[in-house]
Amino acid sequence: MPGTVNRTTRNVPQPATRSPAQLPRFRAQLRRQRTRCFVALGSNINQPLLQLRRAVQALDTLPQSSLQHCSSVYRSQAMGPGQQPDYLNAVAEIRTALRPHALLAALKRIERRAGRVYQRRWSARPLDLDILLYGHLSYRSRSLTIPHAGLMQRNFVLGPLLEIAAGLALPNGRALDTNMLQGLPGRLQKMPQPLWPRRRQR
Ligand code: ADP
Ligand code: MG
Repeated sequence: MPGTVNRTTRNVPQPATRSPAQLPRFRAQLRRQRTRCFVALGSNINQPLLQLRRAVQALDTLPQSSLQHCSSVYRSQAMGPGQQPDYLNAVAEIRTALRPHALLAALKRIERRAGRVYQRRWSARPLDLDILLYGHLSYRSRSLTIPHAGLMQRNFVLGPLLEIAAGLALPNGRALDTNMLQGLPGRLQKMPQPLWPRRRQR
């Protein structure tokens, strides 16, 4: 339609118009448009460590995104209903140009590919992927709350997040600090197995 702006390409430089010499600058420009996000990973059935490793690979191939860092794997007690196996948890940092709801949809697709069927709240699951932080965004809708509503109450989320992002400023202005873990319930055990072998320089 004449006069309409294509929202996906507006202000985005097109690679075809760049000479090879301009490519590094173009790539840097694209990276700057990406938002720094933290995603929590959890699994307590169907080979949890394998589930987390596959999920990290899937995060590494998210469109318009790049995986930056991964925490260690942590073992935690399930907080859901009934007797459940322990969870393995981790947190990954990504940079993404996906908007929050598109990111949530992409994470749910990864969960479903891992065999997740949506049952009772907090029931055992092969994979749970939650958006913890999306830049400095504070946002609330029926299907999405950012920062994640459980961020400050769950040691299995805060522990791995602190490992890779201590000092990070939260949207409320507070900096992530290990003191925030004090008094949170449940055991949290750091595991020796690496989740993602590559550790990129900041
Ligand atoms: P939980 O992650 O708390 O164990 P679920 O994985 O079952 O629970 O998520 C239930 C719903 O929570 C999802 O369908 C999603 O729409 C919603 N939700 C709200 N905020 C977030 C968020 N920040 N990240 C992921 N899901 C979220
Ligand atoms: Mg979830």
